[in-house]
Amino acid sequence: MAIKDIIGNKKAIEMLLSFAKSKKAGTSYIINGEEGVGKTFAALQFAKAINCLNQLEDGDCCNICENCRLLDKTLGQLDADGFQQYPHPDVMYITTDKAQITIDLVRDSLIRLNAYKQIKLKYKILILKDAEKMNKEASNSVLKELEEPGDFSIIILIVNNIQKILPTIVSRCQRINIMRADEKEIEKKLIQLGMDENLAKQAIMFCDGKIEKALNFKEINNDILVAREIFLVLTSKTDNVEGIFEIIKSINEKMEESKTKKIKGGMENMTYQRLFLLDILKMLAYIYKDFLLDKLGIKKIIASKYDIDISNLKEMDFKVINTILKLISAAQMDLMANANINLLLYNLLFNIRKVSLQQ
Ligand SMILES: [Zn+2]
Repeated sequence: MAIKDIIGNKKAIEMLLSFAKSKKAGTSYIINGEEGVGKTFAALQFAKAINCLNQLEDGDCCNICENCRLLDKTLGQLDADGFQQYPHPDVMYITTDKAQITIDLVRDSLIRLNAYKQIKLKYKILILKDAEKMNKEASNSVLKELEEPGDFSIIILIVNNIQKILPTIVSRCQRINIMRADEKEIEKKLIQLGMDENLAKQAIMFCDGKIEKALNFKEINNDILVAREIFLVLTSKTDNVEGIFEIIKSINEKMEESKTKKIKGGMENMTYQRLFLLDILKMLAYIYKDFLLDKLGIKKIIASKYDIDISNLKEMDFKVINTILKLISAAQMDLMANANINLLLYNLLFNIRKVSLQQ
C-alpha cells in the first residue's frame, strides 16, 4: 500500500505526496478527519513515503524497501486492541483506550525522540493517535517539542476533532484533512482487498462513506442478522408471540457466544452481554429508521438493504414507528444504567409488539 491507495481524498493525496517529496525534518503534521475515515492508514503511508529508500518520483513510497517494510510492521500490524505489538526505537505510536492522554503517556516518547539519532529510518516517527484527548500538561509538552523540533524526527498528530487541539499546536503543523469517500470507490477497494462482492455491496450501505467501518463490516453483519430477525418477528403480518420467546432465547445464547467481543475504550465497566445487546439495539433502531424512510416514501431501502419482503410486513404509520424508536432509545439508556438485561429485553420486545398491534 502507498499514499495513492488512500480512497477518494484527491486533495489530501496531493498534499501528502508533495510533503513527502520535499520532506523536511522537524516538520509536524496534523491528519484531521472523522472517526473511521482512514487517518491512521494515511499516516502510515506518509511515514513510509518520507522514509522510503526508493521513493517514487511523485513522492510516494515503493512499499517494498527495508524501511517501508519496517513501518508496515511497526505501525501497520497493531494488536487487536490497537496497540503497537512490534515496537522499534525509531517508531513511536502513542494511543490509549482511556479518556485522556496524560503527560506520562507522551513524556518518554518525546524524550526518546531527540535523545539519540535514529537507528534505521531516515526520520524517527512519533504518531499520536486521537491527539484531541491530550490533557493540558500533555498538550504543553507536545507544544514545546513542536517549538524546538529535532533534526531527525517527524511528529504526526491524528485528530478526530481539530477544534479540541490547542490553536498554538495547530498553527505549527501542516494540516491534512481526510474526508468520507465515495461509496463506489469504497466498494471497488473492498473487492480489490478480497471481500466477497455481495458482502461488499452490503458493507457500503452501512459504512456511511467510512472505509474503516466498511472493512469491519463482517463484525457488524452478525448484529444486523440478529436485529433483522427481531424486526421480522415484530413486524410480520401475523402476530407471533412464540416467535418473540424464541428470539429472546436465541439472543441469550448468542450473548454467551459473544464473550470474545472486544470491550472498547471508555466501556470497561460494561459486561460483554450488555455491549452485545447494545450493538443489537443500535442495529434494530437503524432498521426501524430505514423502515420509517421507506414508509414516508423518502428512500425505498428496506427490501434491498435487509433482504426483506415488504409484502409480509404489517401496515404501520410513522407515529407507531416513532414510538417504537423511542422505546428502543429508552432501552439503550436503561441498558447503560445497569438495568436487568433479561427483563429489559422481554419488556422491550413485548412493548414493541403492543404498539405494533395498535394499528
Ligand atoms: Zn520504500
